[in-house]
Amino acid sequence: QMALLRSLRDLPAVTGDGCAVELLANISEPDDLDQVIENGGEGVGLLRTELLFMGRDALPDEDEQFAFYQEIALKAGKRPVTIRTIDIGGDKEAPYLGLPKEENPFLGYRAIRICLDRTDIFKTQLRAILRASAFGNFKIMFPMIGSVQEVRAAKAMMQQVRVELENDGIAFDAGMQAGIMIEIPAAAVIADLLAKEVDFFSIGTNDLIQYTLAVDRMNDQVAPLYDGFHPAVLRLIARVIEEANRAGVPVSMCGELAGDPLATRLLLGMGLRAFSMSAVSIPWIKQQVRETTLADAQYVFEAIRGLDTAGEIRDFCKNN
Ligand code: PEP
Ligand code: MG
Repeated sequence: QMALLRSLRDLPAVTGDGCAVELLANISEPDDLDQVIENGGEGVGLLRTELLFMGRDALPDEDEQFAFYQEIALKAGKRPVTIRTIDIGGDKEAPYLGLPKEENPFLGYRAIRICLDRTDIFKTQLRAILRASAFGNFKIMFPMIGSVQEVRAAKAMMQQVRVELENDGIAFDAGMQAGIMIEIPAAAVIADLLAKEVDFFSIGTNDLIQYTLAVDRMNDQVAPLYDGFHPAVLRLIARVIEEANRAGVPVSMCGELAGDPLATRLLLGMGLRAFSMSAVSIPWIKQQVRETTLADAQYVFEAIRGLDTAGEIRDFCKNN
């Protein structure tokens, strides 16, 4: 089996009928890139930057952040790397920020909500990422977007930082694309409106499932209810992919569902062509891609529309 996986590494991720699929990895630090390359990942679809902000006593300053992002840029070389701005809050804590305890942290002060409020923190990170963008092939991504206003505010902040860097004569990639996570149901519902504002979407199924089904992703007692094959979740995902493709906005998926081999054909059938996952999942997903055709994938997607429950949809995906 190891040999099979190793042999897959150098084979292209192409369906039986010739459709190329981009397989990317989710990482948290520079060292993770070794495993990405070993497993045949074409790049990084999600760099979670929280690690840089957690398990310490104070915020990392601009230079420390820059060094971290630059190391990733240099290690990744020409490979694309999508860097997500901080997603602190919810399950990811940073005590030194002195954030108030909340009744419902997942519905509270987290991610882009903190960044648009604590602009000092946000601008420092944006400066560090933009500076490092001169050394690699970066895209930037904002998490937990729920409205068009938030996207505009985040982009305006980035524009301010660009102007500052230009005035300081500091190099950066002026063409760096900016996109958003689609992980709040509201964002999925207004995908057509958001598509006009951004360069790309990345569907975050971990949170999208949690918020769509009102099931805490950390709570074992309700874990059986947490299911990416729930028809409500699949309808939202299909809608996002359809609107993105209609608008010509590239769309990928970086939640755990992207690394679930049972979902690969269904997602291909919906029109998804880019998947980002933990590096070790890449060979398994590549195998799925290579063993299917788009016609088969579209058949699976059409067929599950008539099914009522997550269980029935899973069974169908297993048996077809
Ligand atoms: C997601 O929500 O699907 C996601 C990729 O982000 P995180 O797991 O970091 O919340
Ligand atoms: Mg998330």
